[in-house]
Amino acid sequence: MKDLKKLNRVLLKLSGEALAGEKKTGFDEATVLDVARQVKQVVDSGVQVAIVIGGGNFWRGRTSENMDRTKADQIGMLATVMNCIYVADMFRHAGMKTKVYTPFVCGAFTELFSKDDAVAELEKGTVTFFAGGTGHPYFSTDTATALRAIEIEADAILLAKAIDGVYDSDPKVNPNAVKYDEISLDEVLAKKLGVIDLTATIMCLENKMPLMIFGLNEKDSIAAAMGGQFNGTYVTV
Ligand code: UDP
Repeated sequence: MKDLKKLNRVLLKLSGEALAGEKKTGFDEATVLDVARQVKQVVDSGVQVAIVIGGGNFWRGRTSENMDRTKADQIGMLATVMNCIYVADMFRHAGMKTKVYTPFVCGAFTELFSKDDAVAELEKGTVTFFAGGTGHPYFSTDTATALRAIEIEADAILLAKAIDGVYDSDPKVNPNAVKYDEISLDEVLAKKLGVIDLTATIMCLENKMPLMIFGLNEKDSIAAAMGGQFNGTYVTV
């Protein structure tokens, strides 16, 4: 297993809903500024940070049978672009250098993703945002997270979630659910724990990409995870 206490390059995944805070939709500025403060601490300590953001605060996928899945997914991908433009701007406000990449052309709003370009920026200390998912329907921001983390050769994926780790059953349903401190991707798959979607799980397994899962709502959880004070679940390869 990689030494997850010595991380040099990470990919942080934030769900769209996490950005909305209590409001559940749109953005909660205080939440985003708090994420920015923590990421700055991590970047200032010399860690390279890439970010993928979901789109759930704007769009939850196909709303009816009348809608074509591909079109619904395109709207979802555009929602992630809006999120990245907003969060990158808040990060700039907090004093970080940022760049937003998309896998499709968005005019002058973003830059077309290239591994070489993104890695060169990461090495300069720029926080790179991978917006627009994979650019393809029938995928998710989980898949985009796995793909980009593998491509940029990140040491680990940091998954900041509404829940503070991986449990053996849903703690909302089962009050006796037990949280894992560590679990392998093989077990995640065998037990169908649904940490990330199936496609993303298999990509991480095949490419030996470990994950750290933790709660975004816990105070300073991003900075603490990177500082070795990790309270979530290590998903090992
Ligand atoms: N999406 C897609 N292809 C991708 C990534 C995302 O089609 O490569 C779409 C998908 O329809 C999803 C939406 O974008 O509904 C937003 O992503 P996601 O649901 O993963 O966001 P989250 O729930 O993490 O906020």
